[in-house]
Amino acid sequence: MSETVRFVRNGVVVETAAPPDLTLLAWLRGSGLTGAKDGCSEGACGACTVAIGRSAGDGIQYETVAACSVLLAQLDGAEIVAIEDIAAEDGSLHPVQQALLSEGAARCGFCSPGAGMSLFALYQNTDGDIAAESATAALQGHVCRCGSYRAMMAAGVAAGANRTQTRHDRLGGTTASLLAGLSGDDSPPADGSSFVSAPTSTDAVALLWAEHRDAILLAGGSLAVPAMARLARRPQKVILLGRATELAAIDDSPEALSIGAAATLAALRPHVAAIDPDIALLVDRIGGPQLRSMATIGGNLAAGPRGADLAAVLIALDAAIVLRQGLAERVVAADAFFLEDGSQDRGATELIARIVIPKPRAGAIFRAFKAAKRFDLTPATVTAAFHFIIDHGQIAMARIAYGGLGPAPRRALAVEGTLAGVQALDRSAWARAFAALRQDFAALSDHRGSGRYRMETGQALLGKALIEAGSNSDRRTRLAGFREGVDVLA
Ligand SMILES: Cc1cc2nc3c(=O)[nH]c(=O)nc-3n(C[C@H](O)[C@H](O)[C@H](O)COP(=O)(O)OP(=O)(O)OC[C@H]3O[C@@H](n4cnc5c(N)ncnc54)[C@H](O)[C@@H]3O)c2cc1C
Repeated sequence: MSETVRFVRNGVVVETAAPPDLTLLAWLRGSGLTGAKDGCSEGACGACTVAIGRSAGDGIQYETVAACSVLLAQLDGAEIVAIEDIAAEDGSLHPVQQALLSEGAARCGFCSPGAGMSLFALYQNTDGDIAAESATAALQGHVCRCGSYRAMMAAGVAAGANRTQTRHDRLGGTTASLLAGLSGDDSPPADGSSFVSAPTSTDAVALLWAEHRDAILLAGGSLAVPAMARLARRPQKVILLGRATELAAIDDSPEALSIGAAATLAALRPHVAAIDPDIALLVDRIGGPQLRSMATIGGNLAAGPRGADLAAVLIALDAAIVLRQGLAERVVAADAFFLEDGSQDRGATELIARIVIPKPRAGAIFRAFKAAKRFDLTPATVTAAFHFIIDHGQIAMARIAYGGLGPAPRRALAVEGTLAGVQALDRSAWARAFAALRQDFAALSDHRGSGRYRMETGQALLGKALIEAGSNSDRRTRLAGFREGVDVLA
C-alpha cells in the first residue's frame, strides 16, 4: 500500500496522502473541518467522534470512531462522515442536529458535534423510532462536562420520531457503488526504511513483522495510535492488520468459537453473547461504541495483563491463544499467557493470530462480572469468571478465574479445590472457598483499589456466583439496563 488513501466523502472519492503519523482528526482539522474536537487525545471523551460508513447489503452501515485514535491510512476504502457533512445541501439541519437544538442538549457545545455523530450513526442505521435505551447506548462513549446527557438522549429519541429524508439517505446508492470500486492495491512496501503496509493475509503480516522488528503493528489503533502521537519521533514503519480479513475471521461451530485476533470487540459480541450474556455485558463495558468498532481482541490481550478485562473469561472457559512467529505457530493456554512480571508469553514480534474458546458443555453454568470505579468508560478493578457443572446441587466441576487480584489474571486453584464435590448452597463450603481465595492471590493495591477492597470484592463476586449457580434459577441481578429504567428527574 502506498502512502495515499482513497475514501468516500459526500458522494465523492477523495485521494490524499496518508503518512504513518496522520490521524483522522489531524486530517479533518488540517482540512478546515474543525467540528470534531481534540479533547482527551486518547479516545476516551468522544469529542472527536466521526462516523465511518461501509457497504452492508444494499446500503451503508455506520459505525463511530474516535478520530484521534485512528490513522487516516486505516480508513482506506471506507466512507468518512464528519459533522460538517450531515446537514442537507441547502443548509437545513439533519434531524439529530435539529433535535439537539430543540432539546437544549448543546450547552457549551464542545462535545455536541461528537455526540451528534453518534446519534447520526444510530439514526442512519435505524428504521423508525429510536428507543431511549438505544440512544443511551449510542452515547456511552461521550463525556459532557455540562451534564447534558439526558437532553442528548432525548434528542436521539426525538430525531427518530421526526424523520426526514437526509443527505446521506440520498447519497447511499452512490456511496455504495463508489465503495465497491475502492479495492486498493496490495503491493509490498516499496521501500524498506519507511512504509505503511496493510497485508491481506496472516502469513504476510507475520512475515513482514518478523522481517521488520522495528515496525509498529497496528490493529484497531486505539492504544497504538495515541501512543505513537506521544512519541517524539515520527514512526517510520507501520503494519496495519485491517485488510487481513482472515485474521479477523470468526468461526463459530458447536464445539468451539475461534476468533481471529483482528476481530473487533463489536464483531465478536454476538458470538460471545451466545455463550453467555454476562460476557456480552462485559464487552459492552469496554469503552464506548467508538472504541469497540475499532479495538480488537488481539489488541486487548497484547496490551494486557492489567487492562484486559476479557482475560478472566477466557481462562475460565479454558481458551487457547494461537501465536505466530513468521510461519511458525504455537498455542498457549489463556491461563499461562500472562506472566507474573507483567509481560506475556509472547516474543517481541510474535503475532496473536486467534483465540479458540471451547464451548461449555450443555448444562454448564457460566457467570462473569466486572467491578470498576464507575459503570462506563473505565477498566475493571476486579474481573471474575465462574464456570460450573452442577449435578443435583453438587459442584462436579469448577473452573474459576480472576483479573485484578494478582499481577496477572489467573485461575483460583485453591478455591476450585475447596468447591469440588460440595453442595453449591452449602454455606460452610462458601466460607472455606472465601478463605482459599487468600491463598490464591495476595491482592495488589493501586490507584484503582486497595488490596483489601479487591479481595473483599473477589469474595463477594464468588458468593454471588455461587448463589446464582446453586439456586437452580436463571435470575441474574445486573446493573445493565437498570439505569435506563430509572428517571432520576421524576
Ligand atoms: C477509552 C478506552 C477505554 C478502554 N476501556 C477498557 C476497558 O474497560 N477494559 C479493557 O479491557 N480494555 C479497555 N481499553 C483497552 C482496549 O481494550 C484496547 O485499547 C483495545 O482492545 C486494543 O485493541 P486495538 O486493536 O485497538 O490495539 P492497537 O492499539 O492497534 O494495539 C495495541 C498493542 O497491541 C499490539 N497488537 C495488536 N494486535 C496484535 C496482535 N494480533 N498480535 C500481537 N500484537 C498485537 C499492537 O502492536 C500494540 O502494541 C480501553 C481503551 C480505551 C482507548
